[in-house]
Amino acid sequence: MKGGFSFQLLKETEGNGRLGSISTPHGSFSTPVFMPVGSQGSVKALAPADLKEIGTEILLCNAYHLYLRPGTEVVREAGGLGRFMGWDGPILTDSGGFQILSLCTLREVEPDGVRFRSHLDGSLHFLTPEKVIRIQEELGADIMMVLDDPAPYPISYKEAKVAAELTTNWAKRAKEAKSEDGAALFGIVQGGVYSELRRQSAHELTEIGFDGYAIGGLSVGEQKESTFEMVELTVSMLPKDSPRYLMGMGTPEDILKGVRMGVDMFDCVLPTRFARTGVLFTSFGKLNIKNARYIKDKGPLDPQCGCYTCRHFSRAYLRHLFLSRELLAYRLNAIHNLFYYQSLMKDIRRALSEDRMDQFSHEFFSQRVGGDEDSQQEGGEILC
Ligand SMILES: [Zn+2]
Repeated sequence: MKGGFSFQLLKETEGNGRLGSISTPHGSFSTPVFMPVGSQGSVKALAPADLKEIGTEILLCNAYHLYLRPGTEVVREAGGLGRFMGWDGPILTDSGGFQILSLCTLREVEPDGVRFRSHLDGSLHFLTPEKVIRIQEELGADIMMVLDDPAPYPISYKEAKVAAELTTNWAKRAKEAKSEDGAALFGIVQGGVYSELRRQSAHELTEIGFDGYAIGGLSVGEQKESTFEMVELTVSMLPKDSPRYLMGMGTPEDILKGVRMGVDMFDCVLPTRFARTGVLFTSFGKLNIKNARYIKDKGPLDPQCGCYTCRHFSRAYLRHLFLSRELLAYRLNAIHNLFYYQSLMKDIRRALSEDRMDQFSHEFFSQRVGGDEDSQQEGGEILC
């Protein structure tokens, strides 16, 4: 690996967001950035060449999933995760705190770590903050996340306080366990929807000092207003010279709001998950390709989109592929949805650099009025 991790704040506009640049051992990228999710070392239905063509600059993978299967030793022997999966760009690995909470039938949080049963084969595991750092270092991540204790929703103030304090304690231990020449390490602010706890968590983590800070434990069932109240509050507590990452949240609307609050990094399974249910993001809202109105539609998914799918295929053909359950449907839909996200980020960065975020936001929302097609029904509950 060459070079290290650094964040450069290039421009900041009060109430409108900021532009930055992040360097990692595997390359640099501009922020605000969107990271496609490849939990198991693969962004579903897409090859790294597709991801590059779409404009992807950094991927998110998951330490919990890769630790369970194929195991960190397999990945290390292969020369690290990037080489294993054929991706030469930067990788951020999530620690798995959220997956242990959401996927495991048994989860016992102890002061020293978390005990759980694998969702794959029921085997028992015990992960400590130190072990999670070792796993991510063996995977060869560019950016690692501390093991946290994310609070479910709803949760009492008392329980949220215990979880946030444990997260701080584990974060301290994770930082101590990290090797000198290792990857960047981000702390994760918790505290549920309690302002006081969010403040305390952000304060304690910045006292410890991390390369970047994530806002975790949101979009788990609380009202959207509470979510963004917590985002705004947390961002206001974080140092300006470090990147801020809003974990697992990312409708296009969420991203735009988050950017304007000063968030630099986003990830979400939404574009690829929706692609697999036939729901496509377009400049005029979400489109459901299963809709009968597209049966003979010769037009592209989105006339304003320049992706491979829109340049070569009609809505009628994409509808046919999807209804026939052809595997190509998932690939073409995922290409379009992720291209939409990466184009949105490019447009946001351009608007930030040209000081026209107000105008951009206005156009973005006005184009969508009444445009969504029953995606909630088809996509089900949105879980990022
Ligand atoms: Zn397209």
